[in-house]
Formats: sequence, C-alpha cells, structure tokens
Amino acid sequence: MSSPLLAEATRIAREFDYPAAQVQRGVAEYIRQSNEGLAQENTTLSQIPTFVTAVPNGTEKGLYLAVDLGGTNFRVCSVELHGDTTFSLTQSKIMIPRELMASGTSKDLFTFLARQIEAFLRIHHNEHFEAHQRRRREGKGEEELFDLGFTFSFPVRQYGINSGTLIRWTKGFNIPDAVGHDVCALLQSAIDDLDLPVRVAALVNDTVGTLMARSYTSPGETGTLLGAIFGTGTNGAYVEKLDKITKLKSMKDAHFDTSTGEMIINAEWGSFDNQLGVLPSTIYDRELDADSNNPGIQMFEKRVSGMFLGEILRRALVALHKDSKVDLFSNVSITPEGLLYRQWGLDTSLLSVVEADNTSQMTDIKTALKDHLNIENASNEDCQAVKILTHAIGKRAARLSAVPLAAILIHTGKLQTDDIVDVGVDGSVVEFYPNFEAHLREALREVKEVGVEGDKKVRIGISKDGSGVGAALIALVASKDE
Ligand code: ADP
Repeated sequence: MSSPLLAEATRIAREFDYPAAQVQRGVAEYIRQSNEGLAQENTTLSQIPTFVTAVPNGTEKGLYLAVDLGGTNFRVCSVELHGDTTFSLTQSKIMIPRELMASGTSKDLFTFLARQIEAFLRIHHNEHFEAHQRRRREGKGEEELFDLGFTFSFPVRQYGINSGTLIRWTKGFNIPDAVGHDVCALLQSAIDDLDLPVRVAALVNDTVGTLMARSYTSPGETGTLLGAIFGTGTNGAYVEKLDKITKLKSMKDAHFDTSTGEMIINAEWGSFDNQLGVLPSTIYDRELDADSNNPGIQMFEKRVSGMFLGEILRRALVALHKDSKVDLFSNVSITPEGLLYRQWGLDTSLLSVVEADNTSQMTDIKTALKDHLNIENASNEDCQAVKILTHAIGKRAARLSAVPLAAILIHTGKLQTDDIVDVGVDGSVVEFYPNFEAHLREALREVKEVGVEGDKKVRIGISKDGSGVGAALIALVASKDE
C-alpha cells in the first residue's frame, strides 16, 4: 500500500491506540482513585472541597471583577450580571511573560498581575477608580470596593471561600517561593501596594467557574453536573453529595452552609493515575515527561491537554525525521536548531489545522508547517505522515477525556434517572480540535455502564467565558455569605 514513511508513521500511530477494554479499566480505576480522594488527603486525585455549596439559578445580579491565572494568558474582566440568565462582560487578556512563569519570585508575578488589574480599571472603570483615590487622599475612608473572584487554576488546598495555599505548580509554572502560601493573600497584598479599590472575595478554580457559569446561563434545567476544561491543562469539577466527602469531617476549621447537602468538588484530574497503572504510555509520553519540569506529575494532563499534545507530536515527528530508513521532510532543510528540534517548539493549534484539512493538496497543512515550524516545501507524503500521527494523538486525547466523564456519571448515579445530564466544557482543545467531542462520545458509549442510552442523556455544551462569569458568581456568593 504505502511507502516506508507512511508505513512507519502508521506503526507509530498504532502505539497511540486506546481500545475500549483500556477505557473500561481506566474508568474503574478513576472511580477507585476518586473515592480515595474523597476520604483522605494526599491522594493521587486531590478531590478538593471548594466550599461552594450551591449552583446559581440565573437570577443573580450586580457588577463584579474577575481575574484568571491558569495558563498561557492572564485575563482581567468585569461582569455585569443582569439577573435574567444574561450578563455583559468586558475583558482584557495579557500573555504572561515566560520569565515570570518559571523564574523570579512570587512577588514579581503578583505585582505584574496587580498592575494588569490597575490598567484594566483605569481603562474600563476609571470613575470608580479615581473616586477611590480621591477619597483616600482626602481621608474620607473607603470607597465601595469591587469584589473580585480570583480564578487560579492550579492545585490549592482551600480553607474557605477566599483562602487557599498552593500545593504545586503545573502547566509550565515553577515559582518555588509561592508553594505553601495563600494565593489570595499574595494577590491582595500586591493590590494593596497599588492602592486599588479591590477586595479578593473568592478563590475560584476555572472548572468550578465553568460549572457555575453554565448553571447561571441555563436555569430551569436539572442543574449542571460537571464543568470540564480542555485547554492548556485539563481538569474537572462536579457536584458531589456532602456525605460522600468524608474527609470534610476531619477539616476542623472548615465552615460552610450544609443546607443543600452538596458541594462542588474540584477533582484535579490532571494528576489521575500518576503512578501509570492504567494510562497508555508511549516512548514519546515517557520522554516528554522525563524532560518536563515536573516528571511523574500530571500524567493524565500530559496525554490530554493543549500544553502537551503539540510536544507529543513533535517528538514523534523527530523520531521519524531521524529514522534513516524513511524520508520525512527530505526536500526540506531542517537543522538541529530548527523549531522541529526545539522542546515545546510545536503549538497544539497546529494539530487542529492538520486534522481539519481533508483536501488532496493539503494546502492548509503545508501552510501550517511553514507558519509553525518554518518547514517549507513539505511534500504531500510528508503531510500525510504528519496527519496520521496527529490523528492518532488527538483521538487518544479525546478518548482519554471520556474516562473521568464516564467515571463521574457512574459514581454520582446520574444516569439512573431519565433526566438530561448537563456538562459544561471550555478550552481551545475541546473547542477547536475537530471531532474531539465525537471521539470522546464514542469512547463513552464503549463503557458498559454508560452505553448508547447513557450517552444520549449527556448534553455537552461549550461554556464560553466560564471563568470570568463563574468567578463573578462565586465572588457574589462569597460577598453575600459575610
Ligand atoms: P487557557 O487554558 O490557557 O486558559 P485555552 O483554552 O485557549 O487557554 O488553551 C490554550 C491551549 O490550547 C494552548 O496549549 C494552545 O496550544 C492550545 N490551542 C490553542 N489553539 C488551539 C486550537 N485551535 N486547537 C487546539 N489547541 C489549541
């Protein structure tokens, strides 16, 4: 059938197969690890209690600030909740300089964040800002403060709705002096240094925000069960019965409203199966992990999320390029200094372009190879090889994403009724990678406790701007709790 190149690409692609039997094993193990996480601290799945005990119903009102630190960008926004399931949102988005992510101090990082909040307030809410400064100067006391929801999408140990200490960095961040510190206090202190009229009211995980935003925008339903992110990283948060979160009993300082009998749990599923008992593992996964700044950690995330899919593909392409028995990019001059040979040199958005191009000339793939990797004159066969590998890596990521979803559906018993189960998702990978949901659903149907009937009950919807609106909703809940 095919040339040695395509035969070899196909052979490598098969290493990324993730068949139904393995999905089923993954689900069973996920349920086991999630129960363990609900009972104890320091488990593989952190199952973090968020102290958010209710989801919104769409009638909430007011103007709130929200910021989001969770990956590639820092977002600042103000959210006006209209109280009728709608909202308006003003947003700015700033790329985080690499040097602040992985070197320097927490003070450098948080001062940078506070400065972005200041710039945002000056542009969009200058009146409020200047009134505050004037009152301060004239000694007239505090202007009314903005309540801010701080979306911080890294593992934290939360003690209440607006305090939590950083457990570890993920997604390429590495600022050791922040670990073990209260990230709300760090942000508040940087805000106070700049004399901004802002109170950090709530610590929010973006997945919790996604869940809250979805519940605000789709009221009158049975309520959203799960919020899930497939962006730079991957994680999920879901509504759990309080009596199943047995480790809460040993949290002496914890105080929260028990009237709903539920609490949102932040699963931190990026670290599912760090011990690699059930996750599929190729040589490319293992080498990516060994060369990362957190080996042995976030093993599920390293197979699923945007931060890593491009790097997996790059490593597979390098293996093909180095293989003297096959000709990949043979008409192209590629030096060891070229992007193909640079760690993190390949952005995951390339995979979406490659997967989407089904034309015989593969023009979009050629353009993307040139734009992303400086590879000009790639042949049709080169493009086909890239496509075979891309498809395998993207499909495995989508099928893996079915594992936590199926496990949570089974564990919560939500498929036992006739109700629709609503799931809000966010992130560039689920939004832009072609057929991500279709591949995910195919794997979901293969899980015997879900099957075709279970899959039909699941409604998956993109929850846009979830972290902004969700964070605002949690800031609102927190300010009402006082
Ligand atoms: P974040 O998770 O940082 O808030 P995103 O949801 O946009 O933001 O995710 C960014 C990640 O998604 C990056 O790792 C990037 O490589 C990847 N990405 C960006 N665009 C696409 C795309 N079109 N298809 C797949 N992945 C993408």
